[in-house]
Amino acid sequence: MRCPFCGAHDTRVLDSRLANDGDQVRRRRECTVCKERFTTFEMIELVLPRVVKRDGLCEPFEEKKLRSGMLKALEKRPVGSEAIEAAINRIKKDLLGSGEREVSAQDLGEKVMKELSQLDHVAFVRFASVYRSFQDVSEFTEIIANLQNKT
Ligand SMILES: [Zn+2]
Repeated sequence: MRCPFCGAHDTRVLDSRLANDGDQVRRRRECTVCKERFTTFEMIELVLPRVVKRDGLCEPFEEKKLRSGMLKALEKRPVGSEAIEAAINRIKKDLLGSGEREVSAQDLGEKVMKELSQLDHVAFVRFASVYRSFQDVSEFTEIIANLQNKT
């Protein structure tokens, strides 16, 4: 950590303690050059990546949007809301764990499809047919064939 007084790059940690109910670490530091002391706070960064759309535009990740897309695919299907929430949480955890600042809409779509394929095959096909801009019919047929092989 650079010294805010003289700009030296080397500082020494004198003391570390938890702050803000354990959500932060407070560190007392001393500059090895000018001996000035200062305090830093560290916290966990939990930021969901921004979504890069096909046209290159970025938008913030919106859980609401993800949920409504999945619910639409799952409409009138025998899947409980707990299972849906668990799937959404897995997707979010996956995104947080990646540490990436951006995720392509396509990658996000693939994650959703992976979850839906395990929840309900009809929902999966519904979602996939909208989400993937199918290049030709054979791709779509291939996906359905794969699903049928699994069952
Ligand atoms: Zn200094």
